[in-house]
Amino acid sequence: MKILVINTGSSSIKYKLFSIDNNTVLAYGNLEKIGESDRGRHTHVVLSGTSENESVQYNPILNHTEGLNTIVSLLTDPETGVIRDVSEIDAVGHRVVHGAETFWEPTIINDQVLDAIRENIPLAPLHNPANILGIEVARKIFPSASQVAVFDTAFHHSIPPKAYLYALPYELYSSLKIRRYGFHGTSHHFVAEETARLLNKPLSDLNLITIHLGNGGSMTAIEKGKSVDTSMGMTPLEGLIMGTRSGDIDPSIPYFLVENSSMSIAEINTLLNKQSGLKGICDLNDMRDIMTAAKKGDERAQTALEMYTYRIKKYIGAYLAVLGEVDAIIFTAGIGEHAPEIRAQVCKGLEKLGIVLDKAKNKSGANKSREIQTDVSPIRIFIIPTDEELKIARETLGLIQ
Ligand code: ADP
Repeated sequence: MKILVINTGSSSIKYKLFSIDNNTVLAYGNLEKIGESDRGRHTHVVLSGTSENESVQYNPILNHTEGLNTIVSLLTDPETGVIRDVSEIDAVGHRVVHGAETFWEPTIINDQVLDAIRENIPLAPLHNPANILGIEVARKIFPSASQVAVFDTAFHHSIPPKAYLYALPYELYSSLKIRRYGFHGTSHHFVAEETARLLNKPLSDLNLITIHLGNGGSMTAIEKGKSVDTSMGMTPLEGLIMGTRSGDIDPSIPYFLVENSSMSIAEINTLLNKQSGLKGICDLNDMRDIMTAAKKGDERAQTALEMYTYRIKKYIGAYLAVLGEVDAIIFTAGIGEHAPEIRAQVCKGLEKLGIVLDKAKNKSGANKSREIQTDVSPIRIFIIPTDEELKIARETLGLIQ
């Protein structure tokens, strides 16, 4: 059985093809700059045994249909392809960012489901339209495959009203569905399951704090295996400081800006999502560049790092209080997995709260799941590489079986 996982963005398609029978990844890749006037970039990797063969092509990619067709021609290439034709693909698993209150489970996509995802566009105007486009194109290109939607919000279904309601007039929740939904659920759930596997315990016995630090960032408090609170809110803007997103700010700031600047509300929305966060503070949003600049003495980069790690620390404190007892904290995603300096800065000063980092273990080690606390640390500290595509493939398989 073969499952293709697709993560469609407004100008990109990430994909991974799994062979479920022998539990392997056959190929994966990323198409970038779809529909942009300069040349598109298509990275395609074929895996065979332990070898990886990467090819990169630069060609304009007109639209998502052309993009997905390009992926299919590489997957079915007579010489380098990994399948003979598209009918070999049994199911396509789609990452869909916002399920709102309509979808809390992976769902087989039909016309009604697609309409319902469309209805949720106002809650995720940046993400759901691209996800829908990916589904529409994939349904045409893989007509015989089951199409399954896996929602980023789904894992947070278990968050109780005291944590998901905002203290606004209740009417805004009942009529407009304004509430916390949370995102990165597939990643938080995946690393939580991996932690349970490594600890050889059922996930339902564990209290965890999962810390996903990529371009976007979020944290989740997990009680007995279930999400009970998370830092992102109705949209992925709330919570941690991110590459270009502000995270938590005083809600009066947009009103203040409308009153005291020439910015429109749409411009303020762009400001908070695209020009704030790390980029807003030090003009850089890639963590590697910021760390390099900070080491060279750039004071704004140093301040940005202090703010970034301070916010994570505040959420750890909050979630320790929410959970009462915590078995492990888990770092994941680009920064969480690869930046020992950030992990060290986050954990510094938390020793008396039970989080004691082993400095040597934090710095060394291959890019695989590992523990980095000292022997005396009451709370274990894990680095777990996230694999959202694998989680989507598993959820897709579970549904079509
Ligand atoms: P996305 O959220 O888009 O999936 P990733 O999870 O890949 O992104 O995370 C991207 C972030 O990870 C970027 O800020 C990048 O600088 C950072 N990152 C990747 N590798 C390293 C590294 N070796 N050291 C520090 N930061 C890193």
